[in-house]
Amino acid sequence: MTLWTFLAGQPAYFITLATVLGLLVGSFLNVLVHRLPIMLERQWQREAQEVLGLPTTEHERFNLSLPASHCPHCNHAIRAWENIPLLSYLALRGRCSACKQPISKRYPLTEMACAVMSLVVAWQVGPGVAALVLLLFTWSLLALSLIDHDKQILPDVLVLPTLWLGLMVNAFDTLVPLPDALWGAVAGYLSLWSVYWLFKLLTGKEGMGYGDFKLLALIGAWGGWQVLPLTLLLSSVIGVVAGLCLLRVRRQSVGTAIPFGPYLAIAGWIAVLWGDEISTSYLQLFGM
Ligand SMILES: [Zn+2]
Repeated sequence: MTLWTFLAGQPAYFITLATVLGLLVGSFLNVLVHRLPIMLERQWQREAQEVLGLPTTEHERFNLSLPASHCPHCNHAIRAWENIPLLSYLALRGRCSACKQPISKRYPLTEMACAVMSLVVAWQVGPGVAALVLLLFTWSLLALSLIDHDKQILPDVLVLPTLWLGLMVNAFDTLVPLPDALWGAVAGYLSLWSVYWLFKLLTGKEGMGYGDFKLLALIGAWGGWQVLPLTLLLSSVIGVVAGLCLLRVRRQSVGTAIPFGPYLAIAGWIAVLWGDEISTSYLQLFGM
């Protein structure tokens, strides 16, 4: 019996494995979310300097693995046992082992969110290829949401490969037929692109960015065009509720730019995983 047939017959093991994997990936996402925007900013700076004929700024080597993780307060190098997702945070009681400064709660929270979302995917979809590829979809959306929240960018280097992967996955009818995925990507991009230009021509303002169009194309490539209306509806609802909460909590002014990417990502994730159930019960509500 292969590992795969064993897991297929034991959903509980499969769900546990997905959760542990989610915890480990969440730990990597912490690094990715922090370092990728810095890497991109340096690259853009270098390119701009080259175009303008300016001397290029030299930086120390900086990528996803270098320099090694260290405490931002005292530069203490994080040892392997201090780098175990969630457990190390608990063992260290949320403080650096050297200088006792608090470690950001963002790290364990991201790891936990990634683990819980992975658990939900494994639970909802069950053992199989669909669940495995949907885990990749989930992790990518989580990383994109956090980066957009922090920096108001949705890096092409993450969005586009995830979009292509969605089309490739559906070339084998894994989630939806390929034509649905193709038109999902096209309609996803064009719908927000049209809203953007309509809004810009009417008000002269830019309501969202091109990253949002590509993100909706990504969601369409994974879930098919059928998930787009629900994604847009849900993201607007989540966006309005979150916006009102932020206004109350932080007393931000109404004009403050709020990144739309995280709401699109959450809505798209829900629509891809539960779209059929939600649409069916919605239609039943109106006796259709
Ligand atoms: Zn420290």
